[in-house]
Amino acid sequence: MKLVFASANLHKVREASEILGGDFEVLSAAEAGVTEDIPETGDSFRANSLQKAKFIHERTGMDCFADDSGLEVEILGGQPGIYTARYGGPARRAEDNIAKLLREMSRREFEASIMREFEIRTPHATRRARFRTSVTLILNGETIFFDGTMEGRIARIPSGTGGFGYDPVFIADAYPDVTVAQLPEDTKNAISHRGNALRAMAKYLKERNL
Ligand code: IMP
Repeated sequence: MKLVFASANLHKVREASEILGGDFEVLSAAEAGVTEDIPETGDSFRANSLQKAKFIHERTGMDCFADDSGLEVEILGGQPGIYTARYGGPARRAEDNIAKLLREMSRREFEASIMREFEIRTPHATRRARFRTSVTLILNGETIFFDGTMEGRIARIPSGTGGFGYDPVFIADAYPDVTVAQLPEDTKNAISHRGNALRAMAKYLKERNL
């Protein structure tokens, strides 16, 4: 079955294709003839993934899906959330994003330690974090949502060269001794937020013999 993935990120298109397996032919937005920037102006992961899927469906009329993901960090009160991709600035560079994340977390930890010094009660917040993905599938004009998460914590220094984005500082609970950037790609896919959401979508499609 042919599905258009509303993404221009070829790394993600390959990842989705591997997760969905041989029964699915995944086309990128460009392969389906859409080369415009896909807008993402919603106020939640779900709103953004719906907006991206609709954009592709309106232009191609094909069955399609979109994802929107982000990082929620406990000590930052759930930030960067929907701002994950551009947290370090509009250039969306992974190095800038990671640098800002580590800086903001250190600042919050320092503030909390000062509060404790003066015996001011402060909520206990840790380096725990989660990646969250919302996938929207538009199938025969009908819209279906699938969610996925990956629980973990933020490392103090980046390590590893695999993956993308925040992988060098994300330590998944499933592999607590390394960062996600130090895991083989298929190991990451087996536990990742996007993997979990896309496997739920594949199960849905297979159960309906699509
Ligand atoms: P998107 O909505 O999937 O494009 O994700 C938004 C941002 O979240 C990306 O630009 C990355 O910075 C970050 N992100 C999403 N998924 C991952 C992942 O699997 N590893 C590391 N960073 C990710």
